[in-house]
Amino acid sequence: MDIATTPSNPAGNPEMADAAVEPHDPATIRRKDYTPPSWLVPEIRLDFDLGVELTKVVATMRVERNPAGDGDQTLHLCGDNIAVMSLKVDGESAEGWSMSGSNLLLPLPGAAHTVTIETHLHPATNSQLMGLYASNGMLCTQCEAEGFRRITFFPDRPDVLSKYTVRMEGPKDLFPVLLSNGNLADQGDNGDGTHWALWDDPWPKPSYLFALVAGQLVANRDTFTTMGGRKVDLAVWVREGDLERTDHAMRSLINSMKWDEDTFGREYDLDQFNIVAVSDFNMGAMENKGLNIFNTRYVLADPETATDGDYDGVEGVVGHEYFHNWSGNRVTCRDWFQLSLKEGFTVLRDQMFSADMGSEPVKRIEDVRILRAAQFPEDSGPLAHPIRPDSYQEISNFYTATVYNKGAEVIRMMHTMAGAEAFRKGTDLYFDRHDGEAATCEDFIKAMEDGAGLDLAQFRLWYEQAGTPKVAMRTTFDQSQGAVTLHLEQKVPATPGQADKRPMPIPLKIALFDRDSGSHDGEKLLVLDKAKDSFTFDGFTRPPVVSVNRGFTAPIQLDAEVLDEDLMFLAAHDDDAFARYEALQQLVTRELLGAIEHGPDEKRRAAIAEAMGAVLDDPAIDDLMRGELLMLPTITFLMELAAPADPVALHMARERLKAHIGTRLRDRLIAIHERTSAVPYSLDAAARGARKVKTLALVLLTAADKKEAAARAEAQYRAANNMTDRQGALMVLAGIDCPARTELLADFHARFAGNALVIDKWFALQAGSLDPKVLDNVAALASHADFTIKNPNRVRSLYMTLAGNPAAFHDESGRGYRMIADLVLALDPINAQTAARFIPALGRWRKIEPKRAAMMRGELERIAASPTLSKDTREQVTKSLDG
Ligand code: ZN
Repeated sequence: MDIATTPSNPAGNPEMADAAVEPHDPATIRRKDYTPPSWLVPEIRLDFDLGVELTKVVATMRVERNPAGDGDQTLHLCGDNIAVMSLKVDGESAEGWSMSGSNLLLPLPGAAHTVTIETHLHPATNSQLMGLYASNGMLCTQCEAEGFRRITFFPDRPDVLSKYTVRMEGPKDLFPVLLSNGNLADQGDNGDGTHWALWDDPWPKPSYLFALVAGQLVANRDTFTTMGGRKVDLAVWVREGDLERTDHAMRSLINSMKWDEDTFGREYDLDQFNIVAVSDFNMGAMENKGLNIFNTRYVLADPETATDGDYDGVEGVVGHEYFHNWSGNRVTCRDWFQLSLKEGFTVLRDQMFSADMGSEPVKRIEDVRILRAAQFPEDSGPLAHPIRPDSYQEISNFYTATVYNKGAEVIRMMHTMAGAEAFRKGTDLYFDRHDGEAATCEDFIKAMEDGAGLDLAQFRLWYEQAGTPKVAMRTTFDQSQGAVTLHLEQKVPATPGQADKRPMPIPLKIALFDRDSGSHDGEKLLVLDKAKDSFTFDGFTRPPVVSVNRGFTAPIQLDAEVLDEDLMFLAAHDDDAFARYEALQQLVTRELLGAIEHGPDEKRRAAIAEAMGAVLDDPAIDDLMRGELLMLPTITFLMELAAPADPVALHMARERLKAHIGTRLRDRLIAIHERTSAVPYSLDAAARGARKVKTLALVLLTAADKKEAAARAEAQYRAANNMTDRQGALMVLAGIDCPARTELLADFHARFAGNALVIDKWFALQAGSLDPKVLDNVAALASHADFTIKNPNRVRSLYMTLAGNPAAFHDESGRGYRMIADLVLALDPINAQTAARFIPALGRWRKIEPKRAAMMRGELERIAASPTLSKDTREQVTKSLDG
């Protein structure tokens, strides 16, 4: 068993070891308590004697008293689930050391010493996937945020930067490939069946960026010559049979390296860059210096097995991890409260990259959809926190949509206010000033003020205050002056621990359309920085149509008093693609929220169907954008607006609206399915767009005519030469009660047996389907031979998908809630990080109608009653019940 799963271990952070004991919440770590480290570790050498069952580690650290520290003569080293096998100071067996919980306290006489510690690790039984673990016979590490302390005792905090030298040794047959950070300095054969490699990373880094990989891997190799003329050897390492699926990752890497030079002036700084794909992984990927480790799902792609969405995922995540080399690694975080410094900024960078590689407006719409579906609910629930949190119990719980995606939006607002050129001056100054340092969000803001020339005094509130601001807008028109006035009012809602909020600066791009010509005289940028303000524009003979928050310049919830006619006007005429999308979404949202209150509004439904029809036919819209316009708002987003909601009623209303649209547009949907089915497979935008629209046409058609949709889906499946068409067709079929459903689900499973990423899709297709028997199906799938609770991808494909399937999860029996709670209880001792990620789904109970809310709460209480919960799950459950 793994010690890390015993009840919460409050001594997990060096800052806490001496902190005053707080009786109610002893494990809470606070931002305001930051103090610089007492000791620094300028250099560390790690010697690994590798084995899957047993790995021996000898760490040799040069430690020096920090002149900026508090003078503490005791060296505090974090440990987690490891024991000291031997401990030496300056070559002599050490005395006087002690353990404080799982941490090591070592009093030292002088100002600088060499400390040598041996630890023994058991990778094969490390199911938490933090520290050193085994995956399919290979060894790999995950150290962010606090995994390094599971490898050796160390001041495991990001403001201790060290130069690493790593020597690894092990059997050649099991570990022919030996990788670590930096450049390969030397290697050799011991002549006894073992070999070794010596890696040297010249760039000082925090312990969370350490990585090692040993295993039977093959590489897709290429090279990149940087703008400064450095020739870099690139390699994407995978298991033998996966090599043919690595080209897209390699292309994405090369594109990322070039893009970061062109866009941010950032050059790569080592002679090697390695990416390794691992099938057991807690998150998407990890930016370890020079040795990025990836979940296989963000590396492997070919047309047969990966959808167009998967291709985008690979490109985005490869970019994201590569961009961390500057935003995260060269400039790192002082403490974990600053996480958004690297993550928010890097998400913005990967979004900009993907936009440049593909379609900018489509990418913007996708990113806003994610923000609304994942971050808005977080920001209005019990786990709401600012992008720079003030406290945490378990930092793993703060790798959130708020820190990542809202963090990106906050920096995007700076970009909007400064303009691209000034923004670049700000980032240049930031990188210049803080290269080699562990910085803070405040450092970033300051660099933006000095470099980009922005005044961000009030803007800092975006870092301090949680909650999605609500902005109400109404317009008045003064006929005699020909003037229109926008009356804007903002409210930042109360969130846990933050009852009273101050008004924030909210940058809103607007345009005022002339009703006759359908045009406007240029976009304007307003900044609403008071609770209430009004903005007047003249030169109009009649009230213009107002388009606000174009491009989603601010991450807010806009409540505009606008007529349906004006939304329809914008849906048809707005020249900003995002605004056009947004107008249609608003119209649909209005209809769905109204429908659950007092039934459908016939006139508005007809208008929506007409607008959707125009979307289908408009030759000026490319298919990728057409697909976005055809998607209805997600249930999670709608639930935010309908609270307390009956999710199933919302779901039914949404299905009924789909049926209405599908019925009205039946022939055109069939025509578009025909047209797009004739487009041959390629990865260019037109063909990808065709595939997107192809399946969406079937989705709408399904709601109207199941028989026709099933026949077309079956044909699409049988004709498919790529995963996008095949998965799309099966997704449609999985929701229709027909013989093809059973047959083709079985065909899919047989066809891709042994391909874990595709089998994940097979589980997800069933857990996410519209089949009324989803809960029975999931229960059966949980005992399928291919299901394993040990693999996070597999667990997520079955259970995260279920938690995101509104009709099934919110089934009025409460069985969906129970299944998720059962999963949490079973998974928590095995993989606490992954288990804790299921709590927010149940934590949303306050947004749900009372009967279901009580059942959700009941499941949270059942989880909370477990005496052995991990710190991760304990924090999330407690906050979800009280927050
Ligand atoms: Zn990241």
